Amino acid sequence: MQLWFDTAEVFIGGRWFLPASGETLPLENPSTGEDIGRIARGTAADIDNAVTAAQEALEGEWGAMTAAERGRVLMRLSWLISKKVDELAEIEATDVGKPLTQARNDAIALARYMEFYGGAADKVMGETIPYLDGYTVYTLREPHGVTGHIVPWNYPMQIIGRSVGAALAMGNACVLKPAEEACLSALAFADLARQAGLPDGALNVVPGLGEEAGAALTAHPGVNHISFTGSVCVGREVQKAAADNIVPVTLELGGKSPQVVFEDADLEKALPFLVNAGIQNAGQTCSASSRILVHESLYDELCIHMAAAYDALRVGPAMDDLNVGPLISARQKEIVLGFLTQTDNNHILSRGEIMEDAPAGGHYVAPTLISGIRPDHPLAQDEIFGPVQVIIPFRDEDHAVEIANSTNFGLVASVWSRDGARQMRMARKLRAGQVFINNYGAGGGVELPFGGVGHSGHGREKGFEALYGFSVLKTVAAHHG
Ligand code: NAD
Repeated sequence: MQLWFDTAEVFIGGRWFLPASGETLPLENPSTGEDIGRIARGTAADIDNAVTAAQEALEGEWGAMTAAERGRVLMRLSWLISKKVDELAEIEATDVGKPLTQARNDAIALARYMEFYGGAADKVMGETIPYLDGYTVYTLREPHGVTGHIVPWNYPMQIIGRSVGAALAMGNACVLKPAEEACLSALAFADLARQAGLPDGALNVVPGLGEEAGAALTAHPGVNHISFTGSVCVGREVQKAAADNIVPVTLELGGKSPQVVFEDADLEKALPFLVNAGIQNAGQTCSASSRILVHESLYDELCIHMAAAYDALRVGPAMDDLNVGPLISARQKEIVLGFLTQTDNNHILSRGEIMEDAPAGGHYVAPTLISGIRPDHPLAQDEIFGPVQVIIPFRDEDHAVEIANSTNFGLVASVWSRDGARQMRMARKLRAGQVFINNYGAGGGVELPFGGVGHSGHGREKGFEALYGFSVLKTVAAHHG
């Protein structure tokens, strides 16, 4: 793996530094379990420096740029990323353990986010509002100021793209805290942003532990907005910390997303979506479809098809680019296997195969398809964050909605049916931030607002909606008689 930056440094004010603690943290390749380097152990002192650098950027060159100029910087960054797609893919595959093709797709998505938000930067407009005689009233969209971005390890490039891209487009200055398990692509992104001409301090990256650097960022009084993507329990802490400073928070949390397959579904078309949405990135996807709800008349047939698809799944090192890579860590593997002990073997319909030559130190779990459990079973209610899907039969539309909406989450759902009226009814009744009809995930959907309800979080990222989230609306009322 060729790196063009020092992994053990923080990026603050456009320059690379050793962290204030002088300490580093180990970095592991999940495919092998081997140490692949050290990353900075950023702490509150680095966060403080990063927030100061961001504030200075807002008062300096970055804050003085027009929206069109900001857009051009993001476009240049998009171009630089697109030239480095292969290197970024290799970095992400090595760091996260995701199969190379999936990592490459994430790098392409990062370039696309910069392109989308670069193009959108000068297209966010206010409104004029008809008001009393003698008044002209209009609205302005202004940046929050310093935005904090806390990112998990599962899709670093995609999540940085959607969150930092939108925040920069709106003129905020960002402090990014990537996950301690996988932060190399965040550092690569910072260096490419510097090369693209992003003014010093507009983006600062401080790797470190969640309870140190992450907690310091969420509690910092100089931060004006926090975007957090991660688990429900940490999200709750982040929201509490932000409440002390009365700053807005976007929470992108977990999911237990259902795909609902009706008796008139096109099964052949649905099958790859049903399976891939569960096993992509080894199931470590917030919008993973971990529940397949199927009409009872199709249940046996779908079980046969999905079991065959699972039989064909191959698991191995990220660089071998098979269907499924390792989980991120030994701890994550333990959590997933712990879930699987909550059912007995006769509920396991099928399993993928871990390749014999997969390194013993890698964190591999065979994709597992489960049937015959009740909808209120923990495996059908809790986010497992591993390659595990459950198939559950339903009687009719109302029963499908009841099961689909029975978890605490509400991130994504899909409906497979040829009946247009049913599609529309289901889209309204399903409790989710995104509903897909006869597809799932829509190829990533940079342009499509994304976010959850319930324990899946609140606020929206992606698309134009994110630009509204990363800005503050100001109303100007002029009385001119
Ligand atoms: P996590 O909550 O443990 O960590 C996420 C980030 O928060 C990391 O950068 C971590 O260092 C930081 N963090 C940890 N403790 C902190 C604290 N006390 N204060 C501030 N920051 C802290 O989550 P994870 O295990 O890394 O990621 C998996 C979770 O993320 C899953 O629940 C998944 O569904 C969710 N996720 C959601 C989305 C989405 O868009 N909705 C996308 C990806 C992942």
